[in-house]
Amino acid sequence: MSKFSFQLLATCSQTKARVGVFSTPHGIVETPRFMPVGTLATVKTITPAQLKDTGAQMVLSNTYHLHLQPGENIVAGGGGLHKFMGWNNPMLTDSGGFQVFSLSEMRKITEEGVTFRSPHDGKIIKLTPERSIEIQNTLGADVIMAFDECPPYPATRQEVEAATDRTYRWLERCIAAHQRTDQALFPIVQGGVYLDLRARAASELAKLDMPGFAIGGVSVGEPPELMAQIVKATTPLLPANKPRYLMGVGTYKEMAIAIASGIDLFDCVIPTRWARHGTAIVNGERWNLKNAKFREDFTPLDETCPCYACTNFTRAYISHLVRSQEILAYTLLSIHNITELIRFTQKIRESILSDRFVEDFGHWLKDDGEEVTGDR
Ligand SMILES: [Zn+2]
Repeated sequence: MSKFSFQLLATCSQTKARVGVFSTPHGIVETPRFMPVGTLATVKTITPAQLKDTGAQMVLSNTYHLHLQPGENIVAGGGGLHKFMGWNNPMLTDSGGFQVFSLSEMRKITEEGVTFRSPHDGKIIKLTPERSIEIQNTLGADVIMAFDECPPYPATRQEVEAATDRTYRWLERCIAAHQRTDQALFPIVQGGVYLDLRARAASELAKLDMPGFAIGGVSVGEPPELMAQIVKATTPLLPANKPRYLMGVGTYKEMAIAIASGIDLFDCVIPTRWARHGTAIVNGERWNLKNAKFREDFTPLDETCPCYACTNFTRAYISHLVRSQEILAYTLLSIHNITELIRFTQKIRESILSDRFVEDFGHWLKDDGEEVTGDR
């Protein structure tokens, strides 16, 4: 009997949007839902209790960063990722592949895996599909990700095809290496901006009996309209009865378009990264709290927002904290920004349940290409 299940509760009559419940050993995730990122087993500047109050259900942590510091054995020694960081709710770890390909200097890719130099101590580290799964088995998140090759943008068709084929061979090795039945391994669709490569990869993965599926290699610098095309064309090819996760995406427009294509889960560092730059997300807009207009504005960031920052403090106060570089500024803005993105996906969820998604959120689905792309 699997410890994971996905129950579909409703589908939109006009788009492929859907509402579901993903059950994991540490609780449920009501989809569609935004997942905050806790890179180093902490969502920066906020406590797990504050994180719970944002409405967070599943939280993501990064294998690459945790392997370098403190090392997976220390996390396991602390009782595993949930206990170590005090988050007794669903968790997901990525495979480390994205960071190895995007952050590491002096990396070398072979069929065996990737060799790179640790940015901490200069030591040579080798990450293979088997090693990535072993580290993730040791960390102990509920959902773990296959080790994939994420080609950069732009890349030639030949390069992307080779990376996509290798990602599939690596997946077979990840499946063989995976040791724990209380962890769900999600494969990742690659294929760059080449829709036929994406379609082929998705169809091949769909034949496998996996507990969920992810689309990776988007939000790597391609134009927003290309990302929308990829998501629209690829998502429906993945099994309808399993959760679908779009990696590294988390702006209003990107999430709305992806949900309309049948995506269930998202993650992005935007809410906390922007918070640390003194930026609030309000109704999908970016507000710089250093702006003079907030200095004497004694209203909440968003008077409809139930978060701790909005129910207790004013724009003027948060602006003062940002100008003074007080740590509380980043805490309050992180609480608000995460709440904001989760609330957006919760509101969409409710609108799908009452079949009003297109009426209520149609303005986010238009092809005007106007938005900053997500980063992580
Ligand atoms: Zn708020």
